[in-house]
Amino acid sequence: MGENPIIGIKEKQRRRRRINRIKRTLLIIIIGWIMLSMIALFVLCYKVASLNEKYNKLYDFILSSAEVNGMSVNDPDLSFDDMENEDVKIDYEVKDKDDKENTKKVFLTFDDGPSGNTDAILDVLKENDVKATFFVVGKTDEKSISLYKRIVDEGHTIALHSYSHKYEEIYDSLEKYKEDLNNISQVVYEATGIRTKYMRFPGGSSNSVSKIDMKDAIRFVTEAGYTYFDWNVMSGDAVNEPYTAEDLVNSVMNGVKSKNNSMILFHDATNKDSTVEALKTIIPELKRKGYIMMPIDEDTKKIQHIAVESVMNE
Ligand code: ZN
Repeated sequence: MGENPIIGIKEKQRRRRRINRIKRTLLIIIIGWIMLSMIALFVLCYKVASLNEKYNKLYDFILSSAEVNGMSVNDPDLSFDDMENEDVKIDYEVKDKDDKENTKKVFLTFDDGPSGNTDAILDVLKENDVKATFFVVGKTDEKSISLYKRIVDEGHTIALHSYSHKYEEIYDSLEKYKEDLNNISQVVYEATGIRTKYMRFPGGSSNSVSKIDMKDAIRFVTEAGYTYFDWNVMSGDAVNEPYTAEDLVNSVMNGVKSKNNSMILFHDATNKDSTVEALKTIIPELKRKGYIMMPIDEDTKKIQHIAVESVMNE
């Protein structure tokens, strides 16, 4: 007997429907899988962004905590492990007390002058009635001598940077370093009558170019009665252009945000007009946000990349 042709057709139709169902199901599974992957991707992206933000906040927190203790802001030993460190927690409480009692302080510091821009910088400071600190280098021409004087006469702090500012010479031996520091001290003294006790190492106390052990240099300057200052905010004018005044404004305003004591590194140099331009925005903006700008004095918190205590207590 032959099969019933109608039953055969129905069977084929059923099979086709079954196959279609399986295809649909597979398609739904694939689309569902793709959509789930997309959602997972979005969620992960969001998580990464928020973790990144948390990371930045934590980093700022660690830096400002370290500052309170006079610890190095560039301390390679300072890591997230310190979050679990009791000392840092205690520091944070100190910081909070600071917040209540004091206004946030900003120290504008200018390295490498006098220069063709010193007058312009002093003009901006004067217009805004703000005092700053100048870490000067050795120049003996008449104009430069008058600029050392103008810095002092207008109430700013004059401080030593270097006589020659030639790294390969001054950091060649401790003897050469001492000679250079004595020379700049003498230049400033002869021009202003001031024996300043504030100084900044060229390249900072943590510079990596010095052939002499910076701890030896730190011991020497400390025993000679100097206090050295590094910085914890960079304006960004250390490098050669291209950068704009606006870039400098942004670096400074971001840099001071989480700090009770901001020591900002600027450069007083003939080719750095952007620094002068940026100051015209930075100073009013800092005032508007409630920061107090002051020159370095004996009460100034020591912002040091290598804390003096860590060397002297060794
Ligand atoms: Zn310098």
